[in-house]
Amino acid sequence: MKALVYTDTLEVQYRDEPNPVPAPGEALIKLEAVGICGSDMHAYHGKDARRIPPLILGHEAVGIVQNGTRQGRRVVLNPLLTCGNCDHCQGGRSNLCSSRELIGMRLAGAFAQYVTIPERNLLEMPQDMDPVIASLAEPAATSLHAIYLAERALYRPLSESRALVLGGGSIGAFAALMLSGKGCIDVHLGDTNPLRRHTAEQLGCCSVYDPLGNDLPEYNSFDLVIDAVGSGRTRAASCAFVKAGGVISHVGLQDNDPGLDTRRITLEEISFLGNYTYSAVDLRAAIQALYNGSLGPLDWVEARPLSEGAQAFREIHEGKAAAPKIVLRP
Ligand SMILES: [Zn+2]
Ligand SMILES: [Zn+2]
Repeated sequence: MKALVYTDTLEVQYRDEPNPVPAPGEALIKLEAVGICGSDMHAYHGKDARRIPPLILGHEAVGIVQNGTRQGRRVVLNPLLTCGNCDHCQGGRSNLCSSRELIGMRLAGAFAQYVTIPERNLLEMPQDMDPVIASLAEPAATSLHAIYLAERALYRPLSESRALVLGGGSIGAFAALMLSGKGCIDVHLGDTNPLRRHTAEQLGCCSVYDPLGNDLPEYNSFDLVIDAVGSGRTRAASCAFVKAGGVISHVGLQDNDPGLDTRRITLEEISFLGNYTYSAVDLRAAIQALYNGSLGPLDWVEARPLSEGAQAFREIHEGKAAAPKIVLRP
């Protein structure tokens, strides 16, 4: 089969790879659409110790089942492999499973014509749904999960809250759309990339600003800050923009540099929430929201052939991609 293989720092190659063979209990999937995630870019930059080349990256995947009882069905893949037996799995928090794995991390991912995955990781989707839109279920579920956790920590409902999103990639864009849909008083979104800012403005749901410019939102004014970047700088910004008693929701994983103002967090009772991925229920809710149109026209997503994947990685790396999400089609 053809696959896009991460071979070295700043290098992915479209080349022939052996076809995967499903083990008992696994499905063989012919892939139709696979999104490029920030975490794939992190690997591409040589900064993810968990993703070691040569490796087929990619985990935001939709395809058609080739074997077993669901043969011929179009499905969304839940890329998070969990044990199903530990307290977290059985308590409904499988994203915290102590033996969790992700396809495209240590196991072969989905930037390929075929991938294998346990059958229990297949999610039904409307069969007439555009696979490119369905592949957004993974980032959308991540935003949904972060907002659910934040809602429980907020003192007042979102409809009485002001929200700030840091980062205009797909998780940030979905967070802004969802917060606006939940009736937030106002939603701001900051991104340093002018192309991303332009795209965020087209969403029509938030005030967009340049974190490096002069026209910043007011400090100490947001009930909720969602950090979809996760760098020392965005953590420092989160601590400055959040209101006393507010919530910082930390989703991005860019670096582990200092930035948190733990003194302010303590003295002003600010909640700091870590967020990792989603449950299968979040994924199902995300598929439904994408299908019923409640997240808008989603015309900011760009689809390209998998064979042109190397170019897409390069453009995202150079900040030349305006689309918050590029989806590759094998
Ligand atoms: Zn992802
Ligand atoms: Zn488990």
